[in-house]
Amino acid sequence: MKTIHHGANVSSESPITGVVDTTAPEYLSEEIDLHGIDFDFEEHCKECTKEFHADCYEAGSPTNYLLGYKKDIKGDFVPDLDAEFSAIVNGNENTTQVTRSKWVSKVMLCGPCYPGQGYLGNSGDYLAYTLPPSIWGHHDHIQINELSVTLESIKELYIAFFDTDLNTLDFAADFFYMIGELLNGKKLNELTPTGSAAGTLKIMLENKGMTTKENKKSVRA
Ligand SMILES: [Zn+2]
Ligand SMILES: [Zn+2]
Repeated sequence: MKTIHHGANVSSESPITGVVDTTAPEYLSEEIDLHGIDFDFEEHCKECTKEFHADCYEAGSPTNYLLGYKKDIKGDFVPDLDAEFSAIVNGNENTTQVTRSKWVSKVMLCGPCYPGQGYLGNSGDYLAYTLPPSIWGHHDHIQINELSVTLESIKELYIAFFDTDLNTLDFAADFFYMIGELLNGKKLNELTPTGSAAGTLKIMLENKGMTTKENKKSVRA
């Protein structure tokens, strides 16, 4: 699914930036205290030639932080791909933008302030990066999935169906329905296709040493 949202191109299959209220997740503030890079101070130091900044930089006022970023060779901050997640904390707005993560959720697009980004407080149709479960803590959050697991499942399903001698039209609807289910966090052995797709899935799972879960009658809206 592709839509234009406030001038930004959004696809529901590749993750978009997720936006969250900074004070919502139980351990986000702690994470910022421990590991946050004071972005405003870093910017100040680029311009300021003094050795100490007690008189020229006012600490403590609302400031922007980076989490999971590192400096590249030019000295610019870029997402650290080894970090569990990367995020920008907007001190003046009580919002945090999760720009990449090993974790995703299906969310609704958010207000006009963040074009093409997803609001992590509402579940919906768009795949967005989210904070790890360990940062959300006990605060309510919508379902969180591990992106690598979801992508690996999609790849396996794709290979299994690419390799079948079935007529494409006989399984296309089931195939895309299953992709949607995987993006929603279902596991391969929780999928319940009908007709010829069911046979292909069963063989694929057997090859992996898995069996389908109790095949409940699935009702599709
Ligand atoms: Zn200074
Ligand atoms: Zn909007």
